[in-house]
Amino acid sequence: MNNRQLFLQHLAQTTDFPLMIEVEKAEGIYLFGPKGEKYIDLISGIGVSNVGHRHPKVLEAIQTQLDKYMHLMVYGEYVQSPQTELAKAICNTLPSTLDNVYLVNSGSEAVEGALKLAKRHTGKRNLISCVNAYHGSSHGALSVGGNEIFKRAYRPLLPGVSNIRYGVLEDLALIDNETAAVIMETIQGEAGIRVATKDYFKALREKCDETGTLLILDEIQCGFGRTGKFWAFEHFEIVPDMIVCAKGMGGGMPIGAFIANKEVMGAFKNNPLLGHITTFGGHPVSAAASIATIEILQKESLIDQVESKANLIKSLLVHPKIKGIRNKGLMMAVEFGSFDELKPIIDRAIELGVITDWFLFCDDSMRIAPPLTITEDEIRESCSIILQAIKEVSG
Ligand code: PMP
Repeated sequence: MNNRQLFLQHLAQTTDFPLMIEVEKAEGIYLFGPKGEKYIDLISGIGVSNVGHRHPKVLEAIQTQLDKYMHLMVYGEYVQSPQTELAKAICNTLPSTLDNVYLVNSGSEAVEGALKLAKRHTGKRNLISCVNAYHGSSHGALSVGGNEIFKRAYRPLLPGVSNIRYGVLEDLALIDNETAAVIMETIQGEAGIRVATKDYFKALREKCDETGTLLILDEIQCGFGRTGKFWAFEHFEIVPDMIVCAKGMGGGMPIGAFIANKEVMGAFKNNPLLGHITTFGGHPVSAAASIATIEILQKESLIDQVESKANLIKSLLVHPKIKGIRNKGLMMAVEFGSFDELKPIIDRAIELGVITDWFLFCDDSMRIAPPLTITEDEIRESCSIILQAIKEVSG
């Protein structure tokens, strides 16, 4: 059996439409296949390779750490400099009230930790999340997800969860004194890139303060420079009580975190009640890669260029079949008429060498989220290939 056959035979499938691109090597914005195929990765592995694939400084940091140690002990027991240095580097990007970092393995695990911490800190049990939110695939994260079709098969899920509509002011009335936390993507990703207003976030912050509710912002997809600020919440002039992050954080290595202030996080230390335990959380090799990633984002001025690169894409992707583009920085959704119209365009673009896809809860829109390292020439090339795919498929 060849690799593609093995993929279908022995590797558990998660979707009816896997992209099925076979990759032998990746570098910068490019993926290379076994027969010399060359693709531009215009989705960064879904918002992961913000600094490009195999950035030399990430590779160097990984190698340096490999020469010292890999896993030593479950998270939180030994003093390991990749973890302590990473926590410091992250706190340096944040307001002083967010000064305590709990390192985990993934976005879903960060969400689990944050929800548990909110219950411990507030003593309350109810949670509020948004319609069409995606916070991960584990049971707790799924419980605060906002798409009934995906949740239905797994009920009963966590009790006490209600959904509000993202960005809709009147729904904030649902937040009350019994609410432990509101969890919300700062920019909704899988809903197809939805951006609320500054006024909405200000009202949300006020309502949480009034009711003693913790505000957890999910920066898993929109953090680490993706939207043109290090953290997406910086666009809205509010400070959350907690952040969850992952994806772009490790520069291609698996790592995540939930972040709060020391006092809130202290709720976990209250033995004998178990807090959150993670064997591989904050793996030192991933942590070293993450420190390098933060340095790259800061030193290479990548975040400052996000807005102009996004504007260039918007100016180039013009075609009667394109109904509009929603974006915050390089987190973009290009809207078509339907999935049936979009899917052949995505397939043809892949044949022509550009990888995009669609969103979990918005399948009429094309996801564009390139590595932030993409150059203007590479943007022009990518967009002309997408336009060619549109022309070939739909005339
Ligand atoms: N939250 C958001 C906003 C996400 O986009 C994702 C992943 N798509 C997650 C949480 C879950 O992260 P992970 O897949 O690492 O568990």
